Amino acid sequence: MQMAPSIHALRHSFRVPIAPSIALDRFVYSYLVYGETITLIDTGVAGCEAQIFDSIRSTGRNPSEIALIILTHSHPDHIGASRAIQQATKCSIAAHSLERAWIEDVELQNRERPVPGFATLVGGSVQLDHELEDGESIEPDETRAGEMQVFHTPGHSPGSISLFMHSEGALFSGDAIPVTGDLPVYDDALASVQSVKRLRRLTGIRVLLSAWEEPRKGEEAYRRMDQAVEYLQMIHEAVLANAGTDPPDLMEFTRKTAKAIGLPPQAVNPLLARTFTANLRVRDRKSLLADFTR
Ligand SMILES: [Zn+2]
Repeated sequence: MQMAPSIHALRHSFRVPIAPSIALDRFVYSYLVYGETITLIDTGVAGCEAQIFDSIRSTGRNPSEIALIILTHSHPDHIGASRAIQQATKCSIAAHSLERAWIEDVELQNRERPVPGFATLVGGSVQLDHELEDGESIEPDETRAGEMQVFHTPGHSPGSISLFMHSEGALFSGDAIPVTGDLPVYDDALASVQSVKRLRRLTGIRVLLSAWEEPRKGEEAYRRMDQAVEYLQMIHEAVLANAGTDPPDLMEFTRKTAKAIGLPPQAVNPLLARTFTANLRVRDRKSLLADFTR
């Protein structure tokens, strides 16, 4: 799907084996940015390289033109195909410094944040060539057409980044902006709210390119961010209402809270418990919405 003259959105469907006979259908987006060379933002899961390469060929270009992979963060569905693509193209890889350890050592990530099917989702570790920091500009090639500004947008993960491409009004947000009604995944509830609010203040967004849902254009892009902030606050209130005694029975508390925010029973898993635990850490705050200095 071509989103702008130089941007192509790729939707990758994949399955997460959660039990011997049960698999969860998921999807994730990656994005191709065409200039003199090709920049790839996130890579999907292991095996997605075939779809990415086919897509590039279908537009008359060559996968060998991929010069740079930017990883919005280290989670399996973003880094999964990085190793195969890097080996095939010899491209450079860039991400925030706080994601380095889990990108360069996926076994460490699997130990510290196990997700079902990790080994099938991730094709292996890769080394970072560049560390990206907040405020930095990335110029993929000399035309400067694909120039992007880096925003450190933590919350979903410590080193999550978003990228704003001024020339196209395109905001690549990775997993930084939760989708109302979907499984919420974050390590830091307050930082999540602050990150979404910070992106919401950007002017000139013409298309929101999230990893979690199809591209959203115009005013709808801003509406998604407003809804995300409301969703984060709604989750926080549900956590406070269901937290009960301290410490709560984690899975029972997760089940009750999930029900309160309208998530289906199959959404109750350790990753969701981890999200709600992030809210418990700031349970002294009734609201996540007040402004804080960063
Ligand atoms: Zn993620």
